[in-house]
Amino acid sequence: MTEPVLAVEDLHVWFDLEQGGELHAVQGVSLALQTGERFGFVGESGCGKTTTILALMGLLPSSASVAGRVLLEGEDILADGEESVSPHRWTDIAMVFQGAMNAFNPVKRVGEQIAEPMKLHEIAEGRTARRQVGELLERVGIPAARASSYPHEFSGGMRQRAAIAMALACKPKVLLADEPTTALDVMVQAQILQLLIGLADDFGLTLVLVTHDLPIVAQVCSRAAVMYAGEIVEIGATDTLYHDPRHPYTRLLFAATPDLYDEEPVLSIPGTPPRLDRELVGCPFAPRCDRAFAPCDRVKPRLVATDTGHSAACHLNDPALKAAS
Ligand code: SF4
Repeated sequence: MTEPVLAVEDLHVWFDLEQGGELHAVQGVSLALQTGERFGFVGESGCGKTTTILALMGLLPSSASVAGRVLLEGEDILADGEESVSPHRWTDIAMVFQGAMNAFNPVKRVGEQIAEPMKLHEIAEGRTARRQVGELLERVGIPAARASSYPHEFSGGMRQRAAIAMALACKPKVLLADEPTTALDVMVQAQILQLLIGLADDFGLTLVLVTHDLPIVAQVCSRAAVMYAGEIVEIGATDTLYHDPRHPYTRLLFAATPDLYDEEPVLSIPGTPPRLDRELVGCPFAPRCDRAFAPCDRVKPRLVATDTGHSAACHLNDPALKAAS
């Protein structure tokens, strides 16, 4: 296997809390992504997905502390904080933010804003930048002439397309997309997902999609990580996660997804995720788990391989522990 385009090694993120103490939002995330791979992060709100990708971009607020390594083609882009990450931000690794309206300044024309990262990184300016902006807009399905429009003159779907064009302005290798279809109607959602797949294929992009929506991951990504309480609790091929989940949380996430063709009732996952501002003992999912057994409350499960390319953090995958319980 070739060197991954992006490797994350033991990433931790803490936030200092105003009232004192820390919130440990990301706890030891590791993964490696190949060029052109489409990868998903999935889990409930607050599980650490968005914080993880903001850390990859070096865009966390000053109250955050980060430990671990983020290797972009072998170079640790977080090694010297802002100094080492800023040359790569937008040029090598770019992001489509949650809520496309927030990505744009309402009083500047869309085209000018798409051209900004090109100018900032001295990739193009003037007529060349305008031409490239037009080409990008056309590629995402917006007539080039609409570059002179203001964000409020676009529909929600067009704003999302323009936000994707802006993220692609400097031809990054890795595109992070944070809930890119939230607040869009079902038809537009499908179009945006198809657009992302097409762009990833055309440009050889590595796409990292963050969503709470499992069907979206299944549609777009070949591999995914399920996050819970700041950790990856299961990672593997999307197909395998669906047909052979090895963590009860993954199984319950799928069971909690409506399926038009299945008459089985949609289940909800009981309880709420744990607080991350206090030390967790045992399996973080234990209070909500329908399969919990003797060691789960006191022994923390590690992420271990259950099959080739498939790992899960659950004691059910340890036959010795199960037999001894
Ligand atoms: Fe459930 Fe125990 Fe597995 Fe945690 S380790 S997911 S509590 S069975």
